[in-house]
Amino acid sequence: MNQRKDVIDTADVVKKYGFKFTKSLGQNFLIDHNVIDQIVEGAGVSSEDTVIEIGPGVGTLTKELLKRAKKVIAIEIDSDLIPILSEELKEHNNFQLIHQDAMKVDFNKIIEENENVKVVANLPYYVTTPIITNLLNAKYKFKSITVMIQKEVAERMNSEPNCKDYGSLSLLVQYYCDTKIIMKVPPMCFIPRPKVDSIVIRLDRLEETRVTVDDEKLFFRVIRDSFNMRRKTLWNGMKNIGLDKEKLEEAFKDSGIDQKRRGETLTIQEFADLANAINKKINN
Ligand code: SAM
Repeated sequence: MNQRKDVIDTADVVKKYGFKFTKSLGQNFLIDHNVIDQIVEGAGVSSEDTVIEIGPGVGTLTKELLKRAKKVIAIEIDSDLIPILSEELKEHNNFQLIHQDAMKVDFNKIIEENENVKVVANLPYYVTTPIITNLLNAKYKFKSITVMIQKEVAERMNSEPNCKDYGSLSLLVQYYCDTKIIMKVPPMCFIPRPKVDSIVIRLDRLEETRVTVDDEKLFFRVIRDSFNMRRKTLWNGMKNIGLDKEKLEEAFKDSGIDQKRRGETLTIQEFADLANAINKKINN
């Protein structure tokens, strides 16, 4: 039983409606209100903001967001949760519920129709990477994304060159955003308990991308190919990039990057320099 008034007690609501959890939908609901407070605080939600929440569950986090935000638009896939959310949050006239798969939502429409859009969610872990990748690549003009995700994925997003977690996901996220770890969350803060530890991470969208690249598609291809061959040199990774040996050598020389280095040692600026040099050779 939760001692605080005017909050949703997750376990009580689950019991009241006889709700049955669906494992395949990543349904691990938060029961710890200290964690919920820190998510809302960490996301910096204010009365100017419209929050998009992906996967509201029975509305425990949603209710706290509703107290702080101008408006909360929640997207939930599970039809069993729709009547529960409508009933439990009925006194909040700043609440909008969309019954849909978040992978199919037109985020651009929501973001265009609202101001100061922040995404806040305890994400279903099976769709974490596709949802965040979609939000970033589609260049939606959201202000920030504050999400609870699997610990390992958060560490990859937040990682730096020469660290074991550094890879394509670190570079994708950091190309568009600043990253900040808000807190670690152990399994006992959820029902049912997940098998993994979680982290709340905040991604603040940069006004301009972190580095300037001439061809984004090629930039991400260079990154992918470098990490596909993690133990190999950049030279080996770039063999199929579309340049003959001579031109590839010139591209490395122009970028100032030693072809014997490995991808995991390169900063994002160095990846941009290499991709831009390769792009010039491809187009010459
Ligand atoms: N926000 C709640 C909380 O913190 O207690 C629930 C979080 S639970 C980890 C994930 C939620 O996302 C569940 O309510 C689940 O039904 C929903 N969900 C799963 N896949 C989804 C999808 N593709 N689109 C929208 N919601 C989804």
